[in-house]
Amino acid sequence: MSNFKALPIKTRCWNCGAEHNRTVSIMEREDGPNDGELSFCFKCGHFAIWDSSLTDGVRKPNPSENDRLKASKAAQRMKTLWAIHMVRQEEWDPKSTAKED
Ligand SMILES: [Zn+2]
Repeated sequence: MSNFKALPIKTRCWNCGAEHNRTVSIMEREDGPNDGELSFCFKCGHFAIWDSSLTDGVRKPNPSENDRLKASKAAQRMKTLWAIHMVRQEEWDPKSTAKED
């Protein structure tokens, strides 16, 4: 049912500076993200807010948005899932594999 569609929108993370050349909406919709909506950096795990007036495309959440993010179970769940994904990725990185035999 969920068919994530990647849109060719470039952003740069306000926290880690990672450049993303695609964005995926987790909601079923045809149009792109609107200003003020939530974004998430898969490189560093920080939330951002869409702002098309900025060159980077996203900005740091303001204090009241941060309060809402902390109170949002969905946002916290997403961050937890991201953290689990990152741990698993490290486990499977052949360069970081410790040989135990
Ligand atoms: Zn980042």
